[in-house]
Amino acid sequence: MSNRRKPTARNRYRAEFLRSPAWFARRNRWFAKHERLGIPLVCAACDRPALRSQLELHHVDYAGVSVAGDGSWRAFEPHADLVPLHPYCHELVHRLIDRDVVLSRNRTRRAATEFALQRVRAKLTHQVAP
Ligand SMILES: [Zn+2]
Ligand SMILES: [Zn+2]
Repeated sequence: MSNRRKPTARNRYRAEFLRSPAWFARRNRWFAKHERLGIPLVCAACDRPALRSQLELHHVDYAGVSVAGDGSWRAFEPHADLVPLHPYCHELVHRLIDRDVVLSRNRTRRAATEFALQRVRAKLTHQVAP
């Protein structure tokens, strides 16, 4: 499956899904589970500790997102399919995923995310190293 997104699906996702009650609830469940598991909350790109209010969740895969028969969104992403990122770090990851020719054409979104995260992590952690 190509990682290249269809423009209409992408617009619809941005305009509707990210504002949907389903996504809002899924976000809350994600952070609640993370806390319950006792996993420290850090940005997946820069590795810095962060508060829940400072983080966005990136979709490693959209398989858990669907539209129900009545037109409402469903958000049943597995925990590991959502990755916490600062808005700034999230933007860097998306720049790579969406604009890098090789990444956008030849890999799945999961593989592209993994690769982009590695690149951004290397860049950001290098900057703060002594
Ligand atoms: Zn970060
Ligand atoms: Zn994202």
